[in-house]
Amino acid sequence: MMMRMSSLFVRTLRDDPADAEVPSHRLLVRAGYIRRAAPGIYSWLPLGLRVLRRVEGIIREEMNGIGAQELSFPALLPREPYEASNRWTTYGNGIFRLQDRKGGDYLLGPTHEEMFTLAVKDMYASYKDLPVWLYQIQTKYRDEARPRAGVLRGREFIMKDSYSFDTTDEGLDRSYAAHRAAYIRVFDRLGFDYVIVKATSGAMGGSKSEEFLAKADVGEDTYVRCTACDYAANVEAVQVRTPAPSAYDDVPAAHAEQTPDTPTIQTLVDHLNEKYPRDDRPWAAGDTLKNVLVVLKHPDGTREPVAIGVPGDREVDQKRLEGQLEPTEVEPFGETEFAMHPSLVKGYIGPGALGEKSESGIRYLVDPRVVEGTRWVTGANIDGSHVVDLVVGRDFVPDGTIEAADVRDGDACPNCEEGALESARGIEMGHIFQLGRWFAEALELKVLDENGKLVTVTMGSYGIGVTRAVAAIAEGTLDELGLAWPREVAPADVHIIAAGKAPEIFAAAEKIASDLDAAGVQVLYDDRAGKVSPGVKFKDAELIGVPTIVVVGRDLAESGTVELKDRRSGEKENVAADQVVDHLV
Ligand code: ATP
Ligand code: MG
Ligand code: MG
Ligand code: MG
Repeated sequence: MMMRMSSLFVRTLRDDPADAEVPSHRLLVRAGYIRRAAPGIYSWLPLGLRVLRRVEGIIREEMNGIGAQELSFPALLPREPYEASNRWTTYGNGIFRLQDRKGGDYLLGPTHEEMFTLAVKDMYASYKDLPVWLYQIQTKYRDEARPRAGVLRGREFIMKDSYSFDTTDEGLDRSYAAHRAAYIRVFDRLGFDYVIVKATSGAMGGSKSEEFLAKADVGEDTYVRCTACDYAANVEAVQVRTPAPSAYDDVPAAHAEQTPDTPTIQTLVDHLNEKYPRDDRPWAAGDTLKNVLVVLKHPDGTREPVAIGVPGDREVDQKRLEGQLEPTEVEPFGETEFAMHPSLVKGYIGPGALGEKSESGIRYLVDPRVVEGTRWVTGANIDGSHVVDLVVGRDFVPDGTIEAADVRDGDACPNCEEGALESARGIEMGHIFQLGRWFAEALELKVLDENGKLVTVTMGSYGIGVTRAVAAIAEGTLDELGLAWPREVAPADVHIIAAGKAPEIFAAAEKIASDLDAAGVQVLYDDRAGKVSPGVKFKDAELIGVPTIVVVGRDLAESGTVELKDRRSGEKENVAADQVVDHLV
């Protein structure tokens, strides 16, 4: 259906919205694609919705193409499944919670592992039913600490999320590989300049996780790539030379041996003095670190800042461990430096010490074996089910965002140890993840194998930010004049401008528009008459960013031609008015 500017529900704006930080946000609002309803919550106007639907369409085609089946779960979800996975607690204030009239607890789904797992559990009982790949394109809710850049980081947003269910590890590898290949096709078709990077994986040591990052300076993720090999990683996932996860088995023993002056702690102190010298006095055992954030990584890959503080008071921790102290009696930060937003501090970690997360009661400890040059200390909680990273970073923003772990250009590549790492910024467009058996375990998803034995299913989880993709495509393609959509996702194929007052101009433009429309070309026709000058129409066309602009104007009377202009390259050519359809179809 042809869109006419005279009736299209759009108002372009000359001025930038006051809250817009990045160009795509400014232009999507100014060109009338989206409208802010509340922080991080946006309405989609007709032009925006068309782009969104096209992006969804490409994703849907590629997901269907690998044999994934589409379904749709509610956004409004009961508490119980999220209680079973412990995410009701671990999400903290990252989710929207609400109650019904009877006082029952609900949440607005931030991601749907639980629901998919339970659905498969309800319906399937045998290995013969697997593998199965299910997906949805659906609205998600996360109460982001910093909603940002329009739909790039929303609190309501659309995600394509899929989940794979297999009985064997090899099966999971195949499911993961199929999704990875589908993602490559999706991001190629969407026209992204992107990089696939190692991402942090969850509790299951060695489980695979990769992110698709669109290269963009406005991105919130920092990744590094090696100059010599093909290693690329989100800085959150940069491998450090710490022991393999299995080595955490003896972490309690290692802790038992720790005192504030054991060599490892001394190494950390030296490291801090070298890398993060303080103005007033050197770091020493007993100090609480500034700008050190301990991130608890949950099995689904979500991260949660839980604590700061190294080194600590061993005696106090020991007492707390033995249950002799109530958490409220412990004031580990009382006399030391403390630069963290208090709302973040939910626990405490010290050398040889156990931290305790007061809210959920998760206990964890940090592997104190700090290796020289390491910027991350990795550890595990006491039953090994959670991994903890200690990020030594300078740019901690006190609202829960890690700006960048401290990986610097020049650092040696941890993969080949020959090349150097270079860092750049990216927007996380997609995330694929070998979840393993954690969720299935928690929610008791088991099936019978060939031998009639019950086995726990192994899962993968795969997400694409759909609304984010719209903004990221805009960000990657716009220019100083406005938006400049790639053909695959543009709200229309051709933008026709009736430039002039003469009735012949309108008649010719109308004919080209309806002929193109009849030929299946998506047309946006600027048929506005009266006070709207050609200049205004040109500006709007440049702002809106449809790939081909047809100007029906002065040339028509003079030479019977119209001007075809490529929005991105600016190239122009004149074509006889009656040849336009042949030319474009
Ligand atoms: P980020 O690191 O940007 O917060 P995430 O790692 O929390 O993203 P995932 O849980 O991996 O996100 O979700 C899958 C995909 O959903 C992401 O790769 C991203 O494209 C998209 N996404 C996540 N959060 C948002 C958001 N607040 N607004 C828009 N898209 C989002
Ligand atoms: Mg997030
Ligand atoms: Mg992320
Ligand atoms: Mg992610």
